[in-house]
Amino acid sequence: MNPFTKYELGFFPTPLQELHNLPHLFADEYRIFIKRDDHTGLATGGNKTRKLEYLLGDAMAQGVDTIITAGAQQSNHCRQTAAACARAGLSCHLLLGGDKPDQFTGNLLLSKLLGANIHFMGHQRKAEELENMAARLKRKNLRPYIIPYGGSNLTGAMGYVEAAGELREQLRDKGESASHIFFASSSGGMQAGLLLGMAMHDLKTRLMPVQIDKEGTAGVSLQESVINIIREGNKVLKIRKPVEESDVYAISGYDDAGYGVLTHQEEEAIHTLAEREGILLDPVYTGRAFYAMLHHLKEKKITPGSNVLFWHTGGIPANFSYAGQLGR
Ligand SMILES: *Cc1c(COP(=O)(O)O)cnc(C)c1O
Repeated sequence: MNPFTKYELGFFPTPLQELHNLPHLFADEYRIFIKRDDHTGLATGGNKTRKLEYLLGDAMAQGVDTIITAGAQQSNHCRQTAAACARAGLSCHLLLGGDKPDQFTGNLLLSKLLGANIHFMGHQRKAEELENMAARLKRKNLRPYIIPYGGSNLTGAMGYVEAAGELREQLRDKGESASHIFFASSSGGMQAGLLLGMAMHDLKTRLMPVQIDKEGTAGVSLQESVINIIREGNKVLKIRKPVEESDVYAISGYDDAGYGVLTHQEEEAIHTLAEREGILLDPVYTGRAFYAMLHHLKEKKITPGSNVLFWHTGGIPANFSYAGQLGR
């Protein structure tokens, strides 16, 4: 049961591929699949497209004319929101951390090209800022709709409830299975959606969410954010076998350097997948999560003989803003 309205923005189902070269790194002891949500189609794609289909569905049903959201300067979420608004004919206000740079690059450049109104917030990074902006726009007789950081509430997470069903069908059609799914988890919407979707669709795969930001998002830890969404989801979706709070965990220890800090680990992951398979990762999210998967396989933390899956969540444009490090 899904009481949510959807506004179509992307190309689905996204491809599910097997990687044939990468397993040689592990003496061919694993089969490795990749789910290509870097190809969701919305202005270079990414995992926020699935969430935005439901968030904009809700916004359009309420008859709003303006979307407000927030994030880091290289936010993939903000860039995809800007594209979604352009498509839906809504105006878009982005509240970004830090000060205005001399030159825009990566996702920030794309957000500007996509017509978003960009506000640089300095050090402020609080949910209240979104409310303040909404009040300001209402005084100008606009009808604003707030999308939280990362699009992570139950409405946004519905995109990944649905995606769990999409993956189950693809695996079934190919006659394949996966024992573990690695992915980058940050504001928790994707993780919560997958947990709810796997419970609904009875998909028995172990989630391996790799924590990207030890600080959490806007003052809320990843764990709290996921738990809040599954609590509400268990009720609203009337799931027969509800997701337990004890099912909520994340793999930490790969986030020690801090959010957005590129280390030799992300760099190694980006080079490995690019050079062996011709697939690009990003320096902030997927580079970190993919490194965690490589490390788990190298250390045989996953039983040899398993089929593992990496859920690519996008983020390609951020590579350009790290040219100073990656391009050396
Ligand atoms: C936002 C994002 C994530 C994390 O998804 P959440 O739902 O916020 O946990 C992972 N990878 C990329 C590339 C992202 O932009």
